[in-house]
Amino acid sequence: MTIFTRKTKNFGKLGSYLSSYLFLAILGGALVVGGIWLTRTWFEATPPEIQLLPEVKLLGASQNFTLNVSDATSGLSRVRVWLRQGQQEKEIVNQTFPGRRWGRGGREQSAQLTLNLEPQAWGFQDGPADLRVEARDYSWWGWLQGNRGQLVRPVTIDLTPLRLSFISTNEFINQGGTGLVLYQVNKPMAKSGILVNGEFFAGFPIPGGAAGQYLAFFAVPYFLPQPLTLELLAVDQGGTEARSRVSYRLKPKKWRNDRINLSDAFLTTNMPEFQSFNPELKSLTDPLEVFLRINRDERQRNDALIREVCRQSQPERFWQGTFLRLPNSKSMAAFADQRTYFYQGREVDRQVHLGQDLASLERAEVPAANNGLVVFTGSIGIYGQSVILDHGLGIFTLYSHLSEISVAKGQKINRGAILGRTGTTGLAGGDHLHYSVMVQGAFVNPLEWWDPKWIKDQVERQLAGLGAVAAPVKPAASEAKPKKPRPKGRTPEKKTR
Ligand SMILES: [Zn+2]
Repeated sequence: MTIFTRKTKNFGKLGSYLSSYLFLAILGGALVVGGIWLTRTWFEATPPEIQLLPEVKLLGASQNFTLNVSDATSGLSRVRVWLRQGQQEKEIVNQTFPGRRWGRGGREQSAQLTLNLEPQAWGFQDGPADLRVEARDYSWWGWLQGNRGQLVRPVTIDLTPLRLSFISTNEFINQGGTGLVLYQVNKPMAKSGILVNGEFFAGFPIPGGAAGQYLAFFAVPYFLPQPLTLELLAVDQGGTEARSRVSYRLKPKKWRNDRINLSDAFLTTNMPEFQSFNPELKSLTDPLEVFLRINRDERQRNDALIREVCRQSQPERFWQGTFLRLPNSKSMAAFADQRTYFYQGREVDRQVHLGQDLASLERAEVPAANNGLVVFTGSIGIYGQSVILDHGLGIFTLYSHLSEISVAKGQKINRGAILGRTGTTGLAGGDHLHYSVMVQGAFVNPLEWWDPKWIKDQVERQLAGLGAVAAPVKPAASEAKPKKPRPKGRTPEKKTR
């Protein structure tokens, strides 16, 4: 009995324990589930998202922004935007969004606002400032204050109007030649230079010049079907643009016509090499067809590569004085020769020759025309084994058809240093040097850069006007007795490519 009673008693106790545990468990479970539900809804802790476009860091006199704010869980309750500089503050937006009934979240989950900033009209000064955005949601988190999303965009206020002023340009420019323009801007630039019939040539701060003084070398087109327009272009860091037309005196040039007869011997000797490198040409059986593909398509690809190599130039002036010409050489073809190609008496192609062909002894040593940096060595299609030097401030030279290259990319080279030897690589009928001068990748007439008078009158005189002339030129050994530049007249031509 006693035992039984105890047993029932025990059982009763156990039952009540179980039921109270069960109750607590259910209660606890309900609390956990409820808690999870609450933290996911009423007490969620994710702040609103903020996006401010465009991502500019510079504020001009007036600037528009698009502000996107969103909160997918509780909805937006309030957005505030203000600009702050030191003690000065300007509230741009202070907007409250409606809530839903029973305090359960906001009606708006996202909003897009257009902000029009007028720092000048609001009395702000040039210098650093903060653009601040704060967005809150309808969560009960943070003692019912909601989650706070924040964005601080450090900006620089720049209210100075952009001024672009012309300083000087050449007394005259030659068709196909190099031009130089000097100009001044009154603040840091994102981009500036000169547009030559719409083609952009970047400017460089004048070495040794005052702040804001720039120079830009540019290529005067050799082919001018329409009148030439020169226009300075400056874009400041806030994206404001200024343009200014440059007037000029142009000396037109008449280019020579050159007739090239393609012999079977030339085609059968030279075309297989090109076919071996280019899979597109392998299947062709007609050597003339191979030649035409090379002379047209390959030439275009090669010129595009040269342009690409010359896109970026060192902002320093490496070159000094006149450029060297291959010593003891004879001019075989000139810049902008209008070449017509004939095969068996029939015209098959036309191209323009964009450099100077110079013939000396076979495998003659090729000196660097001026101080510079080797930016390319290797094979360039029709140009064959080639070296490109960057002389700084946008001026480059190209040495082609070499049989040997004795410098490496990245090497600093002095005027007169040997780059390699002449040869017949690429599309060359005989041993010679193809020499080109490029301004930011555009081919120009090399004659000007061989002419001390042109350099003195058209380049140094302008730079001297600013006291920006570089150290006096120390003549290199090879120039101790300067060779008279070749007369501008015609030299008897031997046909080369
Ligand atoms: Zn050539």
